[in-house]
Amino acid sequence: MPAILAQEPIVTTTCTFSTLPLSRAMLDNLASLEYTSMTPIQAESLPWVLAGRDLIAQAKTGSGKTAAFGIGLLEKLQVDSFAVQALVLCPTRELADQVAKELRRLARFTHNIKILTLCGGVAIGPQLGSLERGAHIVVGTPGRIVDHLRKGSLHLDRLQQLVLDEADRMLDMGFADDINTVIASANSERQTLLFSATYPANIQQMSARYQRDPVRVTVESLH
Ligand code: ADP
Ligand code: MG
Repeated sequence: MPAILAQEPIVTTTCTFSTLPLSRAMLDNLASLEYTSMTPIQAESLPWVLAGRDLIAQAKTGSGKTAAFGIGLLEKLQVDSFAVQALVLCPTRELADQVAKELRRLARFTHNIKILTLCGGVAIGPQLGSLERGAHIVVGTPGRIVDHLRKGSLHLDRLQQLVLDEADRMLDMGFADDINTVIASANSERQTLLFSATYPANIQQMSARYQRDPVRVTVESLH
């Protein structure tokens, strides 16, 4: 099904996080981080993310995309369950580290949320040990995630949310096959969030293949 452009901007006048159905712990933490108002991509995306919709979001670097999906991931977690409930795929280890760091900041007042980074270029042994201890959210690069799926060290059958971050860059870097392999192992009853700086034909095809009735939001300018 083709992506539907959101008919009206979600937020025009009010941009505070308190207009969203967020937990008190999350609102307090956002205040302590001095996130006083939403960035435009957050204001456009978060209502849909929290409503459980699939989403294609297009915005430039530095526009606050991590919190635009991260707040939704964190608010929906079942902390009592140590199954991997959310997976964020990123093009590089550096970007995965940045996403994990921002998610940890957003989760810092919520106890016991385990966020694990699984990237290539580092030894796999310690990652196996960490996976055995369990994680709620995994952030990683496609190749290493596929390695773990093949080894049986990572299971995505309880996945609730999948984020393809910088999806256009992942496709440019040749990760299409790995992404397909990951998605083939993932719970089909999941929310799929696709973040991309651009919206070329290969991203549209990926959305058509893997998303259900997605909402499309676009923010052209920075803050
Ligand atoms: P992107 O993924 O779009 O490149 P990031 O998610 O990395 O952007 O965010 C860029 C910076 O903006 C980060 O330092 C982050 O902490 C900060 N930031 C994100 N959202 C807000 C907000 N609502 N208020 C203030 N700072 C924010
Ligand atoms: Mg980013």
